[in-house]
Amino acid sequence: MDASLDALLTAHLAELARTNRLRRLRPWHWHSGELRDADGRILIDASSNDYLGLSQHPLVKARAAEWAERHGAGAPASRLVTGTRDITLAVEERLAAFKGCEAALLFSSGFQANATVIPALTRVGAGETAIFSDELNHASIVHGCRAARAKTRVFRHSNLDHLDELLRQHSGKFGRKLILTESVFSMDGDRADLPALVQLAERHGAALYVDEAHASGVLGPQGRGLAADCGADIVMGTLGKAFGAFGAYIAGSRTLIDWLVNRCPGFIYTTALPPAVLGAVDAALDLVPGMDDERARLAQNSQRLREVLAQRNYDTLGSSTQIIPAVIGSEKDALAAAQRLEAAGVLAVAIRPPTVPEGTSRLRLTLSSALGEADIQRLLDAVAACLPLRQKD
Ligand SMILES: *Cc1c(COP(=O)(O)O)cnc(C)c1O
Repeated sequence: MDASLDALLTAHLAELARTNRLRRLRPWHWHSGELRDADGRILIDASSNDYLGLSQHPLVKARAAEWAERHGAGAPASRLVTGTRDITLAVEERLAAFKGCEAALLFSSGFQANATVIPALTRVGAGETAIFSDELNHASIVHGCRAARAKTRVFRHSNLDHLDELLRQHSGKFGRKLILTESVFSMDGDRADLPALVQLAERHGAALYVDEAHASGVLGPQGRGLAADCGADIVMGTLGKAFGAFGAYIAGSRTLIDWLVNRCPGFIYTTALPPAVLGAVDAALDLVPGMDDERARLAQNSQRLREVLAQRNYDTLGSSTQIIPAVIGSEKDALAAAQRLEAAGVLAVAIRPPTVPEGTSRLRLTLSSALGEADIQRLLDAVAACLPLRQKD
């Protein structure tokens, strides 16, 4: 036992507690789709990413169980050894069709995909690849940029003039360019202008990488995301959010996928996804395209929540999706607001730095189409009752 390490960690934890940034794991329970706290109290879930309620859908659960029964609990090895089955390839083919791409490749998680595909892509071709990354990109993208050890330029959030300027400063230099963005930003709930980004990328001879974690299943025609058919070069999506399962994928050209199979360490040196997960994804792919009514209700309820927050003068940033931030400011006030809402029966977790910028601690409310009208009404009433009217800035 290294006592000096323990002393350092203890001091760091004390510092986090002093600045209201200490995180603790709390156990939650789901019984027949209802969220309960440790005391068994039912809460309205306004914090999960299960946007279509598919993690609790009978067909998704049944196929996960069926494929585990038929094919086993685990994958026997990594994909290039014995981890690829006919069902693995079939699910990848369905994902490619869903995203309107030639091919798709499964990954263990979205974090793993971003953390490993981005650095791999910067090591192709002669010369150094320069990365251009939106300042609000997810921690896994930031991790990928750091792991790439390539020159990374951060552009102001969704500011295409700034991106254009950075790209122009780089023009004429040797090497490739890679632009990184999310299609729906995970903490602000706003959307990137993908058609404009595609144009800009083309103009500068750059490749465009789009993270669709919060758009796949929820937005675009038949829930196929915002990047479907937009012309992005590399599309990443997750299966643990609207798909209600687990894992992630990269979709793109056949050549891109063939290359990743040969050169991406986070794909090569890890165990394949287990059959139960593949079964859940397969069932979600049956359901998602037909869920237009659910998507419409989700969009409508999100708008109702934004209106209640606007009436109380809360900034919801650029949110136009099922992710609705209510910016509060300090860590302490955000935590207190979350506690009041929880006492009123609504779970809306406070998000603090370093996840969001200093001074923008917030409640991040997320809705699901699985919430019925009575729950939505209770949620809206609780928000109105628990969030004090703010002074207009
Ligand atoms: C959740 C998320 C990820 C990570 O995906 P996991 O499958 O949960 O690891 C990546 N990017 C964004 C934008 C996300 O919100």
